[in-house]
Amino acid sequence: MANEQRTIPVHVLGDERVHLAPPHHGRLRQGRLNTLCGKQAVSELPLFAGIEAKSRCRACFGKVDEHGYLKDTAAVAAPDAGKAKRSAEIIPIATGKRKGSREK
Ligand SMILES: [Zn+2]
Repeated sequence: MANEQRTIPVHVLGDERVHLAPPHHGRLRQGRLNTLCGKQAVSELPLFAGIEAKSRCRACFGKVDEHGYLKDTAAVAAPDAGKAKRSAEIIPIATGKRKGSREK
């Protein structure tokens, strides 16, 4: 099993450089995909190869190898931090009271 995580080249608002983001195309269409450097991705680029070195975001490209695979998969493996689930479980406490129990 490969742990490698491929990234996709994307553009962000107000920046001509190419950034990288996790391959969540659904989120990208909804405008909810963040690049590796924490910016909002707006459009995907067709090819990873062919991106000029001078137009690459250093923060993003510093996290992947030459083929666009993340070096550290933990960076994208984490689930949405903004959607922390709160589970309030109420555990009934056994009181141990018994009717008719005899005590000395
Ligand atoms: Zn970036």
